[in-house]
Amino acid sequence: MKKTDVVIVGSGCSGLYCALQLPKEKQILIVTKSQAENSDSFLAQGGMCMLRDEEDYKSYFEDTMHAGHYENDKKSVEIMIRSSQDVVKDLLDYGVRFQKDDAGNLMFTREGAHSQKRILFHEDVTGKEITSNLLARVRELPNVTVIENTTMLDIISRDNICSGIVVEKENHELEEIIAEVTVMATGGIGGLYQHSTNFHHLTGDALAIALRHKVELENINYIQIHPTTLYADESRSFLISESVRGEGAKLYDKQMNRFVDELLPRDVLTDAILKQMEKDGTDFVWEDLRTIPEDELKAHFPNIVQHCLEMGFDVTKECIPVVPAQHYFMGGVKVDYNSKTSMEQLYAVGETACNGVHGKNRLASNSLLESLVFAKRAAKSIAAEKPAAVQLPTAKALAEVCATVNLQDYKDVEMLEKSYRKQVMEEIERVNREKEIG
Ligand SMILES: Cc1cc2nc3c(=O)[nH]c(=O)nc-3n(C[C@H](O)[C@H](O)[C@H](O)COP(=O)(O)OP(=O)(O)OC[C@H]3O[C@@H](n4cnc5c(N)ncnc54)[C@H](O)[C@@H]3O)c2cc1C
Repeated sequence: MKKTDVVIVGSGCSGLYCALQLPKEKQILIVTKSQAENSDSFLAQGGMCMLRDEEDYKSYFEDTMHAGHYENDKKSVEIMIRSSQDVVKDLLDYGVRFQKDDAGNLMFTREGAHSQKRILFHEDVTGKEITSNLLARVRELPNVTVIENTTMLDIISRDNICSGIVVEKENHELEEIIAEVTVMATGGIGGLYQHSTNFHHLTGDALAIALRHKVELENINYIQIHPTTLYADESRSFLISESVRGEGAKLYDKQMNRFVDELLPRDVLTDAILKQMEKDGTDFVWEDLRTIPEDELKAHFPNIVQHCLEMGFDVTKECIPVVPAQHYFMGGVKVDYNSKTSMEQLYAVGETACNGVHGKNRLASNSLLESLVFAKRAAKSIAAEKPAAVQLPTAKALAEVCATVNLQDYKDVEMLEKSYRKQVMEEIERVNREKEIG
């Protein structure tokens, strides 16, 4: 058994930034299912939104609400937008290199459903640039330990108070980690789908665990399909970033005719592509990147150009086949504006959490920002928490809670993970049916 002040589950941008924003006197453990770098945060291509100036506030707010079908929580949206410059300042201080012009000013790009250029980027590997810097800063902290290849199998709770987690370690041993505060930062649910842009090990474990402990969930049937992933024989669908379309790439049907406005919100565009594929009797549509000047294409999207080349497509000379795939999860463990769940001492941040910011559909490049903004709020809330705010279990009561944990219950990890996947999918289907009827 280990003891710590805060245990953070997940080493994506939300978990890492939360750790960096917590007081240095807290002892923090980050446990993560795979290697620390294997998170969706490393895969983010397009960029991260920032409020450029007061003049853009209204239109940024409106774009976010419009993409989310006006089901967004307005206060969450306001918090996200208003906090964006502060988060960007932190990132620059951590060493993140966003693209700048010759005069040293930040440069901005645009993606689908954005009415203005307001997206910061680093080539087409913005997530890697942000998250590798966060990870490097975390590794410098003496109060934070990162434990890789370690999976949260459950939380430990009694009387709706969380006291830590149960994990399977790299050597397959099971262990309890007792913590005053637990933060779930376990990312999305792409691993539940055959075709997804996500890492396969992201299987919505926090959702299954929440269901098991009656922690509230929200909108878990709100799942975003990305309209354009490369149609190729790959285990993880490769994203052709929306900013490619923002910079002028076009979509064609099988006759090589445009059939849609490429900058529609993702869900609307996905529907249009699927309809076109059905009409044409094809498994994909074509995307033309040659509409972007070649030097700009190579400078802004080197990763996409290179990956397509490796898969046999020279985007400077030919169109590429693209198809929609599961990409993002708008729903999740229900949290308040400080990322607190319905269980005491349990927080959720990043894609795993739902504070309503995205509504029914996420606006491109809002997710890195949302993850960071609300991870920082979680850290500030944890730091501000007075011990008396919740009647924490006494040492004796804690010992009793731990005694109720029988590690033998978790011995068949494979079976447990299978049942977790099933429970999450069944819950998504149940909510879908319920909403259809309602
Ligand atoms: C291909 C791609 C491109 C994207 N592009 C953009 C973009 O341009 N702009 C943008 O804003 N967003 C983008 N996104 C979305 C964005 O990357 C994610 O929403 C965001 O990074 C989520 O961060 P996170 O910290 O919540 O989760 P993640 O970064 O996914 O991290 C989750 C962590 O949890 C760990 N974990 C999971 N389950 C467990 C468990 N049971 N026990 C222990 N650890 C566990 C994982 O190992 C991982 O470390 C993109 C996503 C993908 C897949």
